[in-house]
Amino acid sequence: MKRIALVNVHCDPLEQLGSAEAGGQNVYVYHLAKALGKLGFQVDVFCRLNSRSKKERVRLTKHVQFIRLKAGHRQFIPKNKLGPLLPEFISNFLAWQKQEKAEYCLLHSHYWEAGWVTLQLKSILNVPQVHTFHSLGIMRYNALKGFREQSLDTKEIKHRIAIERDITHKANCIVSTSTYEREYLEKHYAANLDHVRVVPCGVDLIRFKPIDRHDARKKIGAPDGDKIILYAGRVEWRKGIGTLILGVHKLFKHHPELRGKTWLYIVGGNLGRKAEPEVREEIQRLKNVCRDYGIRDRTVFTGAVQQEKLHYYYSAANACVIPSYYEPFGMVPLEAMACKVPVIASDTGGLPYTVRDGKSGLLVPVRNPGAIANTLEKVLTNRELDEKLIRGGRELVKTTFSWRIIAEQVAHAYERTIEKAGGKK
Ligand code: UDP
Repeated sequence: MKRIALVNVHCDPLEQLGSAEAGGQNVYVYHLAKALGKLGFQVDVFCRLNSRSKKERVRLTKHVQFIRLKAGHRQFIPKNKLGPLLPEFISNFLAWQKQEKAEYCLLHSHYWEAGWVTLQLKSILNVPQVHTFHSLGIMRYNALKGFREQSLDTKEIKHRIAIERDITHKANCIVSTSTYEREYLEKHYAANLDHVRVVPCGVDLIRFKPIDRHDARKKIGAPDGDKIILYAGRVEWRKGIGTLILGVHKLFKHHPELRGKTWLYIVGGNLGRKAEPEVREEIQRLKNVCRDYGIRDRTVFTGAVQQEKLHYYYSAANACVIPSYYEPFGMVPLEAMACKVPVIASDTGGLPYTVRDGKSGLLVPVRNPGAIANTLEKVLTNRELDEKLIRGGRELVKTTFSWRIIAEQVAHAYERTIEKAGGKK
């Protein structure tokens, strides 16, 4: 049985989702590990121990376990502050591996800081490395530039970009989640495309299944006859929730008849004592935008919802909007399609890969509240279109995005990488 390590640092795949730093990457690593275990790999998933109450080891199945390594204090530390702790993470990885006599045939790293860690491990252990970026510094830089210069700590982002370039050249294989990312890697990091495999993310079709809208609304305490527009995801500026709020304001302005019977639900972002400062600030900013544009009374901020309950929100909705300014992949559209909700998404990044315009959803230009308003109006009032998108979306996720199909493609990339690296076990 081939033993592999999935190396993460900031991302704990068992974390509560929807909080400041827990989203798509956590979901991806968790499901990939589980599906690879089913395909016959022995999978050890590593991350940093970021809480006093968490266990150092959690066994998920016979073949899949999660290992949390000490690196700094056992508490949440923002991912951009982890740099000085990475050498400790590396030595604890090596100590663990020695103690367990774990012989890996491949290391699969996730996100740039774990990519850097794994570059060191790769040369110490002489084991091939596969890397998945999940998000690219250069994409973030381009999205922020000209709009949020104040959040661009250029020194930090330049350092990240330099490391990402290094990983691109030194890892044995890059598993990229979209063709858009692959093009970015070629253009900005001079990637050798022979080493880049595109494998999208998957969706858990058992967790995300459609349920009756009436029952779903009862579960979440939402009004039965009204329309619900849903945003689900982390609450972060680049997710474009502000643009969605302006879009809903425009929708009500041009179609006042919809105002009294339509709600905007914003799901995600811890509230209250659990809230991280940057999330608290962003939620307050968004509430102010709602108030300034006269839709605060039609907007519900639910806070982060456990993923096992998220299908109630999807099934309750009449449309799910993903208004991101940039989005390397985007799990939320797949989950919405799986739950039979029409999707409206920004035409950027990995989103057009899953949201096939006019077939499985509708695309709108980035940062364009007017386009969101027009598209929402169509989806909320045109039953034929609504049904067409629902059918197309559900069909697409079933045939293309199950985790088993995705894990088989990743496993294929592993096999080829191991083969090329000399069949090292
Ligand atoms: N999510 C959740 N609860 C929330 C908000 C989001 O479980 O309150 C999950 C959601 O189901 C999805 C993930 O967080 O799987 C967000 O992933 P996506 O790729 O859309 O965005 P990212 O976090 O990677 O930017």
